[in-house]
Amino acid sequence: MKIVLLGAPGAGKGTVAKLLTDYDGSVQISTGDILRAAVKEGNELGKEAKAYMDRGDLVPDSLIMKIMEARLQEDDCQSGFILDGFPRTIPQAEALRELLKRLDIRLDMAVNLDVPKDVILDRLTTRRTCSNPDCQAIYNIKSNPPTAEGTCKKCGAPVIQRDDETEKAIMNRLETYNEKTAPLISFYEKEGLLKNILSLNSAETVEEIKKYLAG
Ligand code: AMP
Repeated sequence: MKIVLLGAPGAGKGTVAKLLTDYDGSVQISTGDILRAAVKEGNELGKEAKAYMDRGDLVPDSLIMKIMEARLQEDDCQSGFILDGFPRTIPQAEALRELLKRLDIRLDMAVNLDVPKDVILDRLTTRRTCSNPDCQAIYNIKSNPPTAEGTCKKCGAPVIQRDDETEKAIMNRLETYNEKTAPLISFYEKEGLLKNILSLNSAETVEEIKKYLAG
């Protein structure tokens, strides 16, 4: 499959993308994961991206397009890809359309994961992450808490709120989403590629996507 996953931060794009890779071997391409890996490594890309990410702002389009132009031409993309967190702006969507045209690749669809705002806010504010860079296990203070001492169950390091998971950064990420990313829903509707899914359960969402692809 060749699809774009749209949705607000916390909508479950990453979880749905991972489940979809098990289905037909398509690769998950998450610009967020690529950027976090670059920050961890401390390379040029990471140095440039870190301050934007910590504030919950978007990294400049030019940097993202440089990453994606190279990534989409790697061999593992031939059998299919699930774009998770990209495109995030209209200029990125337009650049992607041009890039795919040039590479002679046709998108199957753009799936919008529609999740109520209160659910999103609750998910984002209760998320916690292991501070050990080699572990980074994800916790949720309500549904999957760390130890009573606030340490990681896997490696014992303190579990923290990531810089981009503070209340201030979360509000900024959601505002940025509404302003810059939500317009992509009508962009893909006009392209005739949009599928909107009310998504509260990732496994059910995956089944719906498979049905669309088959039909
Ligand atoms: P994510 O894990 O997808 O929420 O991404 C984490 C952060 O990486 C975002 O808050 C942005 O700062 C940055 N980022 C990820 N993907 C993009 C993109 N396509 N365009 C701009 N910034 C991005």
